[in-house]
Amino acid sequence: MTVCDSPAGFADQNFRRGLRELVRHRPDLAVRSLRKAADACPAAMPGELSARLYWLSLALFRLDRPELALKGLSSAQKLRPRGIARASYVRRVNGYGMLRRRSPEMDDFYAFYSLHSCSYLAKKKDGRFDSPSEKDAVVRLIGDAWRAVGKSGRLAGLDLSRKLKIFRDWPIAFPAFGTLVVSGSNQRPGDFRRGKPQGCEDKCSCGSGLPYAKCCGRIASPSERFCE
Ligand SMILES: [Zn+2]
Repeated sequence: MTVCDSPAGFADQNFRRGLRELVRHRPDLAVRSLRKAADACPAAMPGELSARLYWLSLALFRLDRPELALKGLSSAQKLRPRGIARASYVRRVNGYGMLRRRSPEMDDFYAFYSLHSCSYLAKKKDGRFDSPSEKDAVVRLIGDAWRAVGKSGRLAGLDLSRKLKIFRDWPIAFPAFGTLVVSGSNQRPGDFRRGKPQGCEDKCSCGSGLPYAKCCGRIASPSERFCE
């Protein structure tokens, strides 16, 4: 793979500069230029936009911002399902559509953590913690809840759909920094075209060919959703 694999026809200075910085092992400068290049790319050129987002994600991985990188990669592969971005995305994600961790247990924990911290942050003004101590308390409560999930033994032998139902329904009462926030949601994914619930491992109704849980139903980490 070379930096010349982007389709010809639309190249701007920022894109070229971003690729150059990537080759020079300066991912911070590469991210800056590639972000501008992606912003400048017309939506009517999905292949080109996909290439820019792909290289931006590569620079973010090198900058050790893997969760933001995955967000870019996820968008890149949606725009161009048969391209290199799709192959890279499929290689990096687990069944939840999140970055693959060291073990399936870690995959489960990060899915649980992300669902509950995003659910908490979604109810906050600006989607942010007000203080480091608030964040610590929320992280601790989610950790306690995760240990309780483990002790309950309810995950043993379950497939991803059933695990997700338990994760989503597990109530965590966060003591209020202002107001009481209870995370856990009864919302279920649905396929509006077919008018029935969308199974996690069914092919996604958007037509991507990926399982729903790796595509439109993937779990975004708090960093992706709220730039935490
Ligand atoms: Zn989809």
